[in-house]
Amino acid sequence: MQLIFMGPPGAGKGTQAQLLADLWKIPHISTGDILRACVVAKTPLGEKAKAYMDAGELVPDGLLMDIVQERMNQPDAKAGWILDGFPRTVPQAAFFDTLLCDVPGGGGPKSGKDCALRAVNLDVPDNVLVTRLLSRGRQDDNEQTIRRRLQVYREQTEPLIEFYRDREQLVEVDGDRSMQEVTAQLQQVLSGNS
Ligand code: AMP
Repeated sequence: MQLIFMGPPGAGKGTQAQLLADLWKIPHISTGDILRACVVAKTPLGEKAKAYMDAGELVPDGLLMDIVQERMNQPDAKAGWILDGFPRTVPQAAFFDTLLCDVPGGGGPKSGKDCALRAVNLDVPDNVLVTRLLSRGRQDDNEQTIRRRLQVYREQTEPLIEFYRDREQLVEVDGDRSMQEVTAQLQQVLSGNS
């Protein structure tokens, strides 16, 4: 199982990715979680990333590529993974394609295009997202940053939906329903064809 979870901030990517990863016994790899841990630990990477995260901006692609490359090479990523929050830009997706050729579980010497990868988009309207994010209370969940994160998503991440649609790797799910309903639908769409 090789899954990418896409969707705007507040769409429920993290919750659903964690539930399915537990169920399928594969790692849930959240670049946001990795970055937040680096910020708390005050590592050089965390120090560089913090200002971007606090402002609702994307952390520069180069930093993300190093993080993901290192994480994907860990032994637990061999049997598959759910990536949550990566790739988030077209250059990240292109980099990920080349990485998929090399990493364990990546499918061997093929391009990302040929891998058994699926990209899930959780679709949720903006007004629902803002309400959800304001009630979450994370440090970067104030109204100004939320607005900026949604704008950054539309500009830089949404083009990836077409990228994966063109390759027939896109799975679209309505995320504006209860957590249980979304999980059930994801299980139905994703299991069986892995
Ligand atoms: P998330 O927990 O996925 O909402 O990510 C929180 C913040 O971490 C984002 O607003 C970005 O600043 C940063 N971040 C996480 N993943 C990425 C990524 N793939 N590319 C750039 N920045 C990222």
